Amino acid sequence: TETRSNDQLSQWDHDHFFHPSTHLGQFARREMGNRIITGAEGVHITDREGNRSLDAFAGLYCVNVGYGRTEIAEAIAKQAHELAYYHSYVGHGTEASITLSRMIAERAPEGMNHVYYGQSGSDANETNIKLVWYYNNILGRPQKKKIISRWRGYHGSGLMTGSLTGLGLFHNKFDLPLSQVVHTEAPYYYRRDDLSQTEAQFTAHCAAELEALIEREGPDTIAAFIGEPVLGTGGIVPPPAGYWEAIQTVLNKHDILLISDEVVTGFGRLGSMMGSDHYGMKPDLITIAKGLTSAYAPLSGSIVSDKMWKVLEQGTDENGPIGHGWTYSAHPIGAAAGVANLELLDRLDLVANAGRTGTHLNAAMAAALGTHAHVGEIRGEGMLCAVELVKDRDDRIFFDPSEKVAPRVVARMLELGVIARAMPQGDIIGFAPPFCLSQTEADQVVSVTHRAITDVL
Ligand code: PLP
Repeated sequence: TETRSNDQLSQWDHDHFFHPSTHLGQFARREMGNRIITGAEGVHITDREGNRSLDAFAGLYCVNVGYGRTEIAEAIAKQAHELAYYHSYVGHGTEASITLSRMIAERAPEGMNHVYYGQSGSDANETNIKLVWYYNNILGRPQKKKIISRWRGYHGSGLMTGSLTGLGLFHNKFDLPLSQVVHTEAPYYYRRDDLSQTEAQFTAHCAAELEALIEREGPDTIAAFIGEPVLGTGGIVPPPAGYWEAIQTVLNKHDILLISDEVVTGFGRLGSMMGSDHYGMKPDLITIAKGLTSAYAPLSGSIVSDKMWKVLEQGTDENGPIGHGWTYSAHPIGAAAGVANLELLDRLDLVANAGRTGTHLNAAMAAALGTHAHVGEIRGEGMLCAVELVKDRDDRIFFDPSEKVAPRVVARMLELGVIARAMPQGDIIGFAPPFCLSQTEADQVVSVTHRAITDVL
């Protein structure tokens, strides 16, 4: 194929490519870069200008096994040659999709043995909500339909999933959230006005807030609670001790289903196979996406508990085939990528490495920046880490959002060769590297973060 000049590509990019999650005006006025990525290997990506960067956010926390894995590329190529596509409607399958289902069930918490496939985390969560509604209709309680989600939660950007997401940016001017969604407080302590609570008191407070919301709305109207084991896009916030146990107790009391959104935490990011197991959660549905294929192909899934499955079966006996399907459900190429990815995770013991190197990264970040005047909090779990920036650490004075400190620090880090993410809300720098990150590379991430904060602030 013809090789295009950088100028030509840049022009077409500005003329035709509608980029997601992008400030369209700034892009059109060329006030922001348009980086064209050409290749990647291990934890590094390369662009057309020849710059190489250490990707400490694994794309969008998804390239968990790292870039350039030939095992996955070859599995995809083999599948594309042998059978690029067949649908999975009315009982059809492929060796890849059936094998992957078995592998997921083996890695899921006990009693969760059925997988429905989609293409993205967003559509998997749409599936989850439809299954919850179907379930309650079959059980003869059509009024039990509302979904509780948390402020700062991120569950996608569809109509329903954008509503579940608890970040204003994803609601504004889109007429969201939809009426079936109600939000409760996030277990995010650091920016509270009142910091007099112990961790146990804060956990009890979050559970009490949830219970009060359920009572206000009416327990008979609430179908499910959705949450990420560790809040991700909302600021990388691990829960306080005992949080999930306390939430689960409230949900059980009111017969409310739990959806654990493990798009980020599924398949190893916390150093455990599943975030649900990491925190002892007992979900009825689990959302999986990114880590399922390490983003080598788009594939997502809803893992369904045996308890819900029985009711779904009963529903189809009473009503006919389930009226929910995507053309690309269980796409063979995605499934082949998933099988190769999960095999690689096992063979290279990458989940354990995520735990080990993640602990090192968090400890090194705390050692380097824990008392820095502009760092309010460093927090993380496994291979997730956040550095929250403040104007004044001791007096807890925050920056004005217009100062855009996190994007400025992240831009400086990029100049220094490391990619981190300015999280969309608050002055938070997020890290979610591939699991194959070495401790030396983790140290480089820390020293570049330190230098960029010092340079910019
Ligand atoms: N759920 C969580 C926890 C996520 O982090 C994301 C994406 O970042 C999604 C759902 C949506 O996934 P997708 O962007 O693939 O639709």
